[in-house]
Amino acid sequence: MDFDLNQEQKMWQRIVRDFCESEVKPFAAEVDETSKLHWDAIRKMKDVGLISLEAPEEVGGVEMDTISIAIAMEELGRACGSTALSIAAHNGLGCAPIKKWGTRQQHEQWFPSLISGEVLGALALTEPSAGSDLLNGVQTFARRDGDSWVIDGSKAWITNAGIAPVITVLCRTDKEAGARGFSMILVDTKSAGLTIHPPEKKMGLKGSPTHMLSFEGVRVPYEAVLGEVGRGFAQTMQTLDNGRIGIGALSIGLAQAAFEEAVKYAKQRRAFGKPIAEHEAIQWMIADAALEIDAARLLVYRAAWMKDQGRDYTKQAAMGKLMATEVAERVSRNAIQIHGSYGYSREFPVERIYRDQRLMTIGEGTSEIQRLVISRRVLQEFDNLSPASK
Ligand SMILES: Cc1cc2nc3c(=O)[nH]c(=O)nc-3n(C[C@H](O)[C@H](O)[C@H](O)COP(=O)(O)OP(=O)(O)OC[C@H]3O[C@@H](n4cnc5c(N)ncnc54)[C@H](O)[C@@H]3O)c2cc1C
Repeated sequence: MDFDLNQEQKMWQRIVRDFCESEVKPFAAEVDETSKLHWDAIRKMKDVGLISLEAPEEVGGVEMDTISIAIAMEELGRACGSTALSIAAHNGLGCAPIKKWGTRQQHEQWFPSLISGEVLGALALTEPSAGSDLLNGVQTFARRDGDSWVIDGSKAWITNAGIAPVITVLCRTDKEAGARGFSMILVDTKSAGLTIHPPEKKMGLKGSPTHMLSFEGVRVPYEAVLGEVGRGFAQTMQTLDNGRIGIGALSIGLAQAAFEEAVKYAKQRRAFGKPIAEHEAIQWMIADAALEIDAARLLVYRAAWMKDQGRDYTKQAAMGKLMATEVAERVSRNAIQIHGSYGYSREFPVERIYRDQRLMTIGEGTSEIQRLVISRRVLQEFDNLSPASK
């Protein structure tokens, strides 16, 4: 076993960290206050490669391995939750499905703009009445009409929709075919009949735009389907497995940032004649945070490693996401506790981190759904054991 990043990965981590320290972190409070992404930084991400992590090399992407992508997401999360979420959604949800299932023509059509640094990608699964249960709940329907699809329905909570040139939309294409009755369809955001509603007003991640979408007879070419017709649900599950590694890594970054702020503060703030870091109750919170961040990091990077090995990693990705997102919540909660009333103030980053991390146990599958995924796999593995081992 080897728990170290290799030289290349360490170098990549250093490049991304330096970039985030100078171009992303200094603007995190402003991004939150103004509810606007810092586009100067996003444009510069093009040269670092952060915008094309999931874009094929043939069209100018850097097409990185999963561990390197996790490293990037962790560093972005450590710098700014809003920016990290939009970049995670761009790479993992916007670009990855097009890279994996898109035709050469679709790559050439969409990647030049997707990796330009002027726009970000998006994936629309969730609907006003369907989140965890997409299989039963999705009502957005695409019907074939000659050489076109005609799409009617609505989607909700779609990250980056208002700044995307194209949105991959999960549509029901056959109402009788169950899980085989879905297709992913690429919808040009200039299409007539598509309304992208104003950004939602959120508790945190305010700079990362989230939109409701309405489709009224939106007509797109038949060849805009991504991969095979009828495979959309399976594609969605695979996309989410991968996305969960990204959200896990991002959450470790958020936890790490809150932890660093808490340690710094605990060494400066004095109470009862000594720095609060010398009080045992504070030391326990610091110890628990260090322990949990480390455990979460090991789980998330193991899932990334398994994916890169070509192994089944569904359970491990769910474990990593579950652990990292719940750790981020506990660590940022305690970081505020360590700051006392200053932690409740907008003057200190822990207040923003606490609000930003709250989404992570919800998006790309709630904690309850991660537990469902894990327990299904565990029970299945038990059934597959030989009678002698039971
Ligand atoms: C900021 C933000 C960004 C987002 N970005 C995107 C995006 O880019 N694209 C996209 O498609 N979606 C996006 N989403 C939507 C997100 O993925 C969904 O909110 C999430 O999947 C949960 O769905 P829901 O909100 O409909 O909750 P529901 O599915 O209604 O769940 C409500 C509660 O019931 C629980 N529950 C449901 N089923 C079960 C069960 N079987 N057992 C136990 N408990 C259960 C859930 O865990 C949850 O606690 C985003 C959401 C937010 C807030």
